[in-house]
Amino acid sequence: MAATDTPRTRITWDYAPAPESSDHVRLRDTYGLFIGGAFVDPRDGQRVASINPATEEPVAEVTFGGAEDVAAAVAAARAAQARWAALPGRERAKYVFRIARLIQERSRELAIVESLDGGKPIRESRDVDIPLAAAHFFHYAGWADKLRYGVGGRDAAPYGVVGQVVPWNFPLLMAAWKLAPALACGNTAVLKPAETTPLTALLLGEICQEAELPDGVVNIVPGDGTTGAALVRSEVDKIAFTGSTAVGKDIQAALAGRGMGLTLELGGKSANLVFEDAAIDQAVEGIVQGIFFNQGHVCCAGSRLLIQESVAEEVTGKLWDRMRLLRVGDPLDKNTDVGAINSAEQLERIEALVESGVQEGAVRRSIACDLPERGWWFAPTIFTEVAPAHRIAVEEIFGPVVSVLTFRTQAEAIEKANNSRYGLAAGIWTDKGSKAFEVARALKAGVIWQNTYNKFDPTAAFGGYKESGFGREGGAAGLRPYLRVS
Ligand code: NDP
Repeated sequence: MAATDTPRTRITWDYAPAPESSDHVRLRDTYGLFIGGAFVDPRDGQRVASINPATEEPVAEVTFGGAEDVAAAVAAARAAQARWAALPGRERAKYVFRIARLIQERSRELAIVESLDGGKPIRESRDVDIPLAAAHFFHYAGWADKLRYGVGGRDAAPYGVVGQVVPWNFPLLMAAWKLAPALACGNTAVLKPAETTPLTALLLGEICQEAELPDGVVNIVPGDGTTGAALVRSEVDKIAFTGSTAVGKDIQAALAGRGMGLTLELGGKSANLVFEDAAIDQAVEGIVQGIFFNQGHVCCAGSRLLIQESVAEEVTGKLWDRMRLLRVGDPLDKNTDVGAINSAEQLERIEALVESGVQEGAVRRSIACDLPERGWWFAPTIFTEVAPAHRIAVEEIFGPVVSVLTFRTQAEAIEKANNSRYGLAAGIWTDKGSKAFEVARALKAGVIWQNTYNKFDPTAAFGGYKESGFGREGGAAGLRPYLRVS
């Protein structure tokens, strides 16, 4: 018998399932609206099931707020605001710090709920979303008694009541990005989580109760776009929005002439540039992290991969080999790299854009993998032979799909990278520090990573140019949108 035919060498090695247990998660059957420090029944809202995108099964029932509910939440925030702002900064800091500690204490539960409600792999909820959410509250707790230092020694006062609308891709983290600086600066808030992912925000409501945050300082009104639109048109003093450019433009139009504060963190089509002198294996890992992290549901995803022509074949070859090792499936399995697509609507959008790529002549390759029968899934996909005018090179796909373009010179790389109506982020892979700085200076993008991608830190400012929005979140720069500076 030939050596290759022995039973031992015919063994195929695979991962054993490693599911995270969800037994300890304490979800209620139904959640009211978090208004004035309590979970209350809706006035004109309705009960809706929040669905697990990996199974299409309900996780818990939540309440979508109507216009009257939004008005009640804004009134509760208004009633609480003067007293909250009058607290010495060091006292507000204690509450913000307690919220951070409670997020840490409940981190395991929060990570599981984030994965159940949104479809993201537990490794990412556990290691990225929840720790970063806590880190944001810790960071801004530190600023609460030092606001003047954050705005160049000038006098600063809170805006008042802020309305905050967040998307479904990082539900708790986006809530933390918005609430932590707002509270530290003495504002009170009404938060509208996304329609498909309201649960961790509601758990944050419980955490606010546990932290004994004064009633009305944080109010949480889940709902769909109608609830968001009602909040935008309500009696708040400022709106902070993260989501699509289309909705961002509607919000800006709705606020025109009202003298209100506004920050918009919108979409992107970020360029990830690989130069021929880059460490190719590292770059391949960075490309994977840049586009397949969180199923590509990332505003700053490195979705336009620009490779120097001399190494294009090597990089795409190694990338394809690496992509084939990605494990797609159960978000609660600790081996999973790519989880479920957040909703049926988002899956349709991805499929339509991918189809347009094929129709326009790009070459599609999707990895072979067994996708579960129920739920919404999309296999990691690479497009080569992409032209700059193709829709897949221009529009935000917001899924696990990377479009590859090539360049010959540094000047061409810069021109192609900036050839976008967006300007949120970029990545530069090169061995030469001088080249990285030169290219970074020429790129019109709010965040630029060198030899890494999708790294976030509460001390660093994040935000865009052009149709990616305006205003910064994170660090000292993130205080400014929540203060009136004189
Ligand atoms: P949206 O911009 O519609 O959603 C973002 C948030 O805004 C959600 O809470 C949403 O509620 C709310 N909203 C929707 N309409 C209004 C309105 N008229 N006024 C106020 N708030 C509103 O994004 P989608 O979920 O529809 O995703 C569409 C595309 O947007 C994606 O394919 C992706 O390309 C992009 N996107 C970009 C994000 C980013 O971080 N840059 C985040 C999310 C999406 P509801 O959940 O009910 O829709």
